[in-house]
Amino acid sequence: MYYNEHFHTIKTLANSNFSHNPKNLILMIADGVGLGHISAARIANKGKLNLDHCKYIGLMGTRASNEFITDSAAAATAIATGVKTKNGAVGVDPQYKPLPNLREILEQRGLKTGLVACCSITEATPAAFIAHQQERMLHEAIAGDFMDTEIDFFFGNGREHFIDREDGIDLSLRLAAKGYEVLESIEDLPYVNHGKVAGLMTECPGVDRGRGDYLESVTKEAIRILKKGENGFFLMVEGSQIDWAAHDNDTATTVKELLDFDKCLGEVLEFAARDGETLVVVTSDHETGGMTIHDGDEKSGKVEGAFTTVMHTGVMVPVFAFGPQAEQFIGIYENTDLFQRLKKSILQTEKGLVSVS
Ligand code: MG
Ligand code: ZN
Repeated sequence: MYYNEHFHTIKTLANSNFSHNPKNLILMIADGVGLGHISAARIANKGKLNLDHCKYIGLMGTRASNEFITDSAAAATAIATGVKTKNGAVGVDPQYKPLPNLREILEQRGLKTGLVACCSITEATPAAFIAHQQERMLHEAIAGDFMDTEIDFFFGNGREHFIDREDGIDLSLRLAAKGYEVLESIEDLPYVNHGKVAGLMTECPGVDRGRGDYLESVTKEAIRILKKGENGFFLMVEGSQIDWAAHDNDTATTVKELLDFDKCLGEVLEFAARDGETLVVVTSDHETGGMTIHDGDEKSGKVEGAFTTVMHTGVMVPVFAFGPQAEQFIGIYENTDLFQRLKKSILQTEKGLVSVS
């Protein structure tokens, strides 16, 4: 039995008048989250989440190309590129051919782009929006792939993969030469007013081990900086450690990590409601732990979670959408189709649908 003392209040959103087409796209990925996790967090938060504001809901299949149960690399690659690949592969197809990802496509269309994670920025989920590597464990190669992009903002840990490398190259110097403000912590972030940001921290602890409001703060700063672009922006935010808590079959930590993600979502939705031109899509890469609920009480916030495995499972994950074109995300579809829907939604212009290949 778990009693959550850290529940948060839910944002009241302004009456929003959405434009027909989104200018900005914010993709929020809650790693490892299925309906069990969402139910647990919602009970612990006394029956409400910021997620409740998203009225357009779909269900998504997550299998990999070679196995029914996906890992985060194949799952993120499917979402980022629209192609199912082998477990472990990042941004490449099953024959290891590089695939263009959504962030690259939108960067080419002139949007500013950003990634925020609370794990190494070279981990599978953020990496699928940057890298083209056969194997997710190639952290130094993935760090190297950041150099081939024009990404405007990224924040996470994994500093060592950039500065303490086998090839002896200090990529932080290269980033600085490319015009990035290279930061080691979030402290100086509010003072960055122009240019690009590379947030490379040495660690990013769990939310109950000192991470504080990192996810929410960095996401707010990312939006502040990215929205300066004239052509809109794409931002991916990952709740990275929910998956880890679910692998541990730890209900309390799973709930805390997911509530932290939901708090961050509250900030994002508040911005999107005010802005009117931002599409927010919230989903997961796969379910972890086969989590279910054996008992709960929304008045007290007590919830009894249970798990069927310490691995990922093959159940569908939900997709929630808010803002212009949110209705495009209802239905039952595969993770590769999420890519198509994201791409179509954001590339739709006032002149009509841009043809997407
Ligand atoms: Mg992840
Ligand atoms: Zn996992």
